[in-house]
Amino acid sequence: MPFSEREMDTDTALRIVSELGDLRVFTVVISGGEPTLHPGILEIVDAATRRIPKVMLNTNGILLADYGFASELCRIAPRATLSISLDSADVNVNDVNRRFGAEAVKAIRICAALGQTVCLSNRLTDESISCAEGLMDEFYPSVTHFSVLPRISRTLHESLLNSEEYWKRVEDFGSRLNAKYGTRNELSVVLPFRTMPLEERGDLLNHVQRCCCPFTKMFVDSTGRAFPCFYSAHTDNLLGELHETSVSQVWKSENAQRVRSKALSESPCGMPPGSRAIPLRYRGSAL
Ligand code: SF4
Repeated sequence: MPFSEREMDTDTALRIVSELGDLRVFTVVISGGEPTLHPGILEIVDAATRRIPKVMLNTNGILLADYGFASELCRIAPRATLSISLDSADVNVNDVNRRFGAEAVKAIRICAALGQTVCLSNRLTDESISCAEGLMDEFYPSVTHFSVLPRISRTLHESLLNSEEYWKRVEDFGSRLNAKYGTRNELSVVLPFRTMPLEERGDLLNHVQRCCCPFTKMFVDSTGRAFPCFYSAHTDNLLGELHETSVSQVWKSENAQRVRSKALSESPCGMPPGSRAIPLRYRGSAL
C-alpha cells in the first residue's frame, strides 16, 4: 500500500482480505510505502484481524507517534503486531539512512504502553551494525519481537557496499546478540540467516534447492499484481492480477505453476543469501 496515487483502493483490499480469510491463510502483512497513510487503513486492519490469525502492519511509526491515532488503531486491532522500523536506539545513527527516528521511538513507547505487540524492524547499515543490539538493551522487555534485516542492494553502488566484510559484520552481530540474549526464551529475534532445525523444516525443503516462498506465500503490490515475494516482484515472476481474478485462481494459475517449477532450482529473487546480487525487483525496468 504505497502512499502514491497507485495505492490499492479500500474495496479491493477488503475483498482480498475476505478471500484470504475464506482460504484460511495464517498470516497477512500489510506494508507499503507507508500503510498508515492509506485512507482505509483502520477498516482494512480491522477486517484482517477479524479473519486472519496473524496480522502484521509494517510502518515507519510517524503517525503512531500521535497518541490518538495509535490508541484508535490498537483499540480496533489489539491482536495486530505493529512492526516499526528503527535501525538504532540512537536516533542520530538511525537518521543517517532512515530519518524520523524520534517519531519511531515515541511510537514504540506509546504502542507498547497500550499493550500492543510491537516488533522492531532493524536494518543493518554501516552505521547501525556496530550498535544494533542497543535496540534490545533499550526496549526489551516492553518489546520482545525484533526483526533484523541485512542491507539489500538496489543499485550497483549499493551492491559494492555489501562486501564480504559487510556479511562478516552481519555474522558477528548475530554472534554478539546470541551471546547476550540467546537464553531468553520470551525474546523473538529473526536474524538475516537462520538454519532451520530439521524438525521445523517439513518436506518442502527436500525438493526445493533455494527458497520455498512461491509454495508458501504471495506478495500483492498496490496495483493488485501478485508475485512470490517483494524482492522477486518482476514480470518474470508474475503470478497473476488480483484486479482481474481471485486469489485462489491466481494461486492455482499456470503462471504460478511455472514460477514454482523454476523455484525448484533457483531463488525467484535471483539473490543468493549473503551475496552482492541485486534482487530481480530492481533489475531493469520490467515492472
Ligand atoms: S527475497 Fe529471495 S530468498 Fe527471500 S523470500 Fe524472496 S525469493 Fe525467497
